[in-house]
Amino acid sequence: MSKTINCPLCQRKVAEPELIAGVSNTHGGAFSQTSYDLVHCRDCDVVRLDPLPTEADLDILYRQTEQFSDDLYTDDSRISSMLEYYGHCLENLGLMPAGGEASLEVGAGFAWVSRAIKMRDESVVTIAQDVTDECSEKCAWVDRYHVGLLDTLDPGQKFRLISLTHVIEHLRHPAAMLVELAEKLSPEGRILVTAPHRPIGWQPGGDVQTWLDYSYLHVPAHIAYLSREWFDITAARAGLKVVHWDAGHEDGQAFEAVLGVDPDARSSWWARLKKKVGQG
Ligand SMILES: [Zn+2]
Repeated sequence: MSKTINCPLCQRKVAEPELIAGVSNTHGGAFSQTSYDLVHCRDCDVVRLDPLPTEADLDILYRQTEQFSDDLYTDDSRISSMLEYYGHCLENLGLMPAGGEASLEVGAGFAWVSRAIKMRDESVVTIAQDVTDECSEKCAWVDRYHVGLLDTLDPGQKFRLISLTHVIEHLRHPAAMLVELAEKLSPEGRILVTAPHRPIGWQPGGDVQTWLDYSYLHVPAHIAYLSREWFDITAARAGLKVVHWDAGHEDGQAFEAVLGVDPDARSSWWARLKKKVGQG
């Protein structure tokens, strides 16, 4: 029998992942290792670093180094193209909160989505969260910029829109994040996720060089390149469903996913949970 492992991304017992390539760090720093294996799980179709970077590695990346000094984040044409793209998402994917409703931008940085929302409706309550305070004083379009982990937010507050734009690929446990966010979603709420997907034209078993040339191959910052399959598996566990998926962004190098509450999944999940704690 072939060897099986527990996939850290889809959290299932799966065949050993396929090795794509050995990859060296693209980012300087005192990380736990200088190279990783880039592997593909055939079960959830996710490409990820193996082993996963440690919590200490992530601390070096996000709390000890300045991330937003690059001109990319202050250049006028860059700003207008970001706002145009997120505005397009808000208007065309059913994401725009109504007046008085709240939005949450996770790992917000300059909080592009909050800014695009405020350009359309001043009365939406925009909340941004990040683990560093680098941008917290620079975002007039955010009503409350929360510096700290998500679990320090008011647990009772519900959001019409939760966005993670180029954030989820940095997480060791993206499934746990979606479960946590699902609890914060209003019944009509939506979660918008954008992130790197894979190099143009790459398929499992395809050309290794495309990964080595991929502009989004950031080692060890980008831990996992998620897939439609992974979102389907994870959404079901979180009481959510995928209502939109488009992996054609940036010529297929990035994806956008929109998740909404799935009343059926949620009720069966509750049923299982109750059974587990002996109430069913
Ligand atoms: Zn997997």
